Amino acid sequence: EGLSFYRDTWAEINLDAIEYNVKSMIQHLGEDGTVIAVVKANAYGHGDYEVAETALQAGAHMLAVAFMDEGIALRKKGMRAPILVLGASRPEDVQISIDYDLMLTAVSLDWVMQAEKYAAEGELTFHIKLDTGMGRLGITKREELEAVIEFVRKSDRMKIAGIFTHFATADELDSDYAEYQFSVFEKLIDGLADPEWMIHCANSAAGLRFPSRIFNTVRLGISMYGLAPSVELKEKMPYPLEEALSLHTKLVHVKKIAKGEKVSYGAAYTALEDEWIGTLPVGYADGWIRRLKDSEVLADGMRVPIVGRICMDQCMIRLPRKMPIGTKVTLIGRQSEEYIPIDEIAGRLETINYEVPCILSARVPRMFL
Ligand code: PLP
Repeated sequence: EGLSFYRDTWAEINLDAIEYNVKSMIQHLGEDGTVIAVVKANAYGHGDYEVAETALQAGAHMLAVAFMDEGIALRKKGMRAPILVLGASRPEDVQISIDYDLMLTAVSLDWVMQAEKYAAEGELTFHIKLDTGMGRLGITKREELEAVIEFVRKSDRMKIAGIFTHFATADELDSDYAEYQFSVFEKLIDGLADPEWMIHCANSAAGLRFPSRIFNTVRLGISMYGLAPSVELKEKMPYPLEEALSLHTKLVHVKKIAKGEKVSYGAAYTALEDEWIGTLPVGYADGWIRRLKDSEVLADGMRVPIVGRICMDQCMIRLPRKMPIGTKVTLIGRQSEEYIPIDEIAGRLETINYEVPCILSARVPRMFL
């Protein structure tokens, strides 16, 4: 409704799956566990506003994004729930974050002191980031943390709402390093964290594996979208996940080519016999990148190969027989008995599943089911 697009390629986002995945995590955490829905990067490519609304309705307490711009975009779409910006923001932009009612992340004492200078009107609310072994952002020393808390205590323009850290290896079966990070976090905050604060360390993997040790909230990203945080954890899920995103297109051209004829740039594919070739209106500018040239898609419930190089806006497939123009072709997702999960695409690309929906470009319309 209201959404019209004039091309036969689209992503479907099953919001019931998002709802189910959020509810499952909340149930898995038990009494005290709450969920922050991580909707950065356009909700990992799934559509930030719609996913956020669904997650909040399913019981998530808060949203998290990577950058202020993402939080501002959500506010402009009418989102009123609390939003935490996980990444480093410029102290100079603090007043903007107050105006948009975003919570920022404090990464050092210096940041906090700078930020206070720019908080002209209203109160800056933030979470403190501790680096317990990720080596990315945050405070590593207890003295620095104490100094931040002391500085804020004296300020009437700043308020601490939470404290957190991030695991580097929670998705690996070997939990030694995660255990080490747990203990560093515990030692850093011991006696300093206010019980009113949100205290959080867990991403999806840690929430799934260590539900009794999350402090009081999980930052739920990948598994809200129905994906396992790693291949090795896939078989160890405490509850089944439901993949939310599928990607579809339609045949826009179908033709028979003779043995020896060529397909696509470089004339790199040669028909080994007379073949039916279908053209799909999807290409690397949509995120269906050239490295997928040897992959398969689903047409009429069957796996069929992509042939020839993937172009910017189009690619070709070899059909087992003539199929009508307009036949639905599934690049990610299910057609009758056949299923192409995001993990299959990630495996072919030798990357992680996170990257696959993230690189689907803004040119691909998202339809919400
Ligand atoms: N917390 C932080 C700080 C993150 O950067 C991310 C994502 O990378 C998440 C939580 C969510 O992690 P996941 O998608 O593995 O659940």
